[in-house]
Order: sequence, then C-alpha cells, then structure tokens
Amino acid sequence: MRFLALSLILLLSLNSCLTAADSPSPLVLHAPKPIQVDEDRIRQHIAFLAGDKLAGRSGAGSRLAAEYLKKEFQSLKLEPLFEGDFFQPVPGSKKFGIAGGRNVGALLPGSDPKLREDYIIIAAHYDHLGTRGGAIFPGADDNASGTAMMLEAARVLSQSTQKLKRSVMFVGFDLEERLLWGSRWFVAHPPVPQEQMKCLLVADMIGRSLAGLDLNTVFVMGSEHSPQLTAALDDARTPETLHLARLGIDLIGIRSDYGPFWNVEIPFLFFSSGEHPDYHKPTDTAEKIRYQQVVMVTDLVQQLTAKLADDKNVPSWTNEITPSIEEVRAVRTIATRLLENQPKHKPLGTSQLLLLGHIKAETSKILSRGEMSSGERTWLVRVSQLLLFSVL
Ligand SMILES: [Zn+2]
Repeated sequence: MRFLALSLILLLSLNSCLTAADSPSPLVLHAPKPIQVDEDRIRQHIAFLAGDKLAGRSGAGSRLAAEYLKKEFQSLKLEPLFEGDFFQPVPGSKKFGIAGGRNVGALLPGSDPKLREDYIIIAAHYDHLGTRGGAIFPGADDNASGTAMMLEAARVLSQSTQKLKRSVMFVGFDLEERLLWGSRWFVAHPPVPQEQMKCLLVADMIGRSLAGLDLNTVFVMGSEHSPQLTAALDDARTPETLHLARLGIDLIGIRSDYGPFWNVEIPFLFFSSGEHPDYHKPTDTAEKIRYQQVVMVTDLVQQLTAKLADDKNVPSWTNEITPSIEEVRAVRTIATRLLENQPKHKPLGTSQLLLLGHIKAETSKILSRGEMSSGERTWLVRVSQLLLFSVL
C-alpha cells in the first residue's frame, strides 16, 4: 500500500509534449472463405484438454495433452516441425526445480519457392498447474482456450483452398507455467534460424472477461512494435460483437510466451481476454468459457496469418512507438468498469479506489484532447502496471 501511495504521488505530475495520435483505418471486406472456424471443434478440444483425464496438464497429464496435439496435427496431414518429429524435448532445470517437458509443433509448408523460407508462428501453451491438494486445476481458459484456437486455426489454414506462400508453424508450448520454460527453449533452439521466424501470433486465456467484468473485450498487444502487424490488424475483418482493444505490450510486461520472442525482437501479437476470478483456481472450468469469443479470435488469427503469409511486406520490428489513443480508451474503460462494478472476490481498498479515480480523470482529459504526449504514455505504462499488480 505504501508503494501504491508513493507511486500515486509520482503519477500526479505529467509532462506534456504533444505528438500526433493514430487514427484507426476503416475495416476492409474480403470474400468469405469456404472453410469456417467450427465452434463444436473448439468445444471438443477444450472439453478434452480441461477434462479430468488430463488432470490439469502437468507431468503425466501434460504428456497426454502433447499426444493429443500430435494426433490432431497428424490428422491434418501437417509435417512434423522438429527434424521429422512433432515433439521437441525440453530439458528441465534442477536449479529452478523444473521437470523436463516437450513442445509440440507442426508445419504447413509455404507454396512459394522463395517466400516459404519465411515462417509465421501460431502458438499457445498447453500445460497448466496439474493437481494441488487433491484438486484438479483444469485450466480451461489457461490455456485450453488458446490451444483450441491454435488447433482450429491449423485445421482451417491447412484445409483452405488458398495455398499460402509463406510457411506456417503451429506450436503448443509446454512449461509456460514454469517460467515460460518451453517457449524459452524453443527460441533458444529454433527449428529454423531465428531470422526466418518472421512473426508470432500467440494466445493465452482468450475465453473469459477481464476481472469477471463482462467487458466482451479481447486485448491485442505487441502490434506497436511492427508497422506490418499494425496494418494487418487495421485491415482485419472482425464482427461487431468482438471488441478488440489494442494495448502496448509494455503496459503489462512479460506475462506469457511472447516474452522470449520479444527479447530477440521477433514481431508478435499477443491475444488475451485477461485474468479473472477463476485464474489459477480449480474453478477455471470449461462451462465458463465464452466459446463465441474463442471462435472470433481463432477466425481473426487465421485471417491475419493468411494475409501475412501472402503479403509482399514481411513483418519487421521497430522500437519507435507512436502512442495510440486507442489504448487510453481501453485503460479508461477498465478503470471505469472496475469503479462501477467492484470485483466481489477482491473488494477494493482506499488506495485502489484513488488510483482508479485518478486513471479515469486523467484518461478522460487525454481522450477529450484526442492525443497523447510521450510523457502521458510513460504515465499510462506506470498506472497500467499498478492496475495489473495492485487491483486485478
Ligand atoms: Zn497461461
């Protein structure tokens, strides 16, 4: 609390040095694709992965989950990603008390003789916490939801009549719950040279709503580091019912498998609907998943992949970030909704209410002006982290 109060004092002084803000481009319509994302398949994947048999996908349960992913990839006639093998063994660590595991990966080879050397990665971690004190932690949202997205995107893209020019990798990371061990190993021991991995589309927890607030929002983070990924998102066709909120990845820091990719500057998009009251609890169960939301994110990921795989421009990385007013709107919505509808599982204290009131007032000012200075962006990063660690 002392930390929070101190931080609040620091935050109350804002620099202003105005820069132009982005304005979103209009949506572009494309002809419908013959193969559609299938909600029933997504339901089946989540039911199996979050089922009792897999006991929370850790240890033996994780091995069963890996076999399931392999079987799915085989049934789609995808190629094994790791030198003829669908599994990439991931050694454990005595120092960190981590038992070994395996990443599971498949390849959809590109059709263009030159561009097929470029790889787009669709990924999600499939492991979870296992059992504790006799209770199964099913991890239906964390991250059976993202794994189901990855498997269904693999089906749609591999069965589509459109033959993609670039290659696509589908990867299930193991040991995310153990210091991102699986994705770290993958990036350190990639199946192709790192520079050929052009971008990562990764999902972790896409089936619920932030803090149980019924926001109907999926956050997309990381696009600010790649103009081509920003453009692809601008052009994507998304249904009205999917509220996508773009946030800078620095607002949340390293929280999932994009971390190791970020460290080596491989462009990425991170999809997540955020933490909720059932996060890392035995109550993260399949019947609470918003299946239509998972369907819409899956469709968005497969659309983005199809576009990026054929586009003449390949995603590149930039550290020059233009602050976007969109993220101010997203943070303001979260603060407002938390004030209006305080989470029952975690009643808010005085400092937290003060923080939320402050965020609401300052973001309203920025929004009414219509642009954000770089000083205000620095402030936004700080308050978002406070929000994340002290309120959510
Ligand atoms: Zn997770």
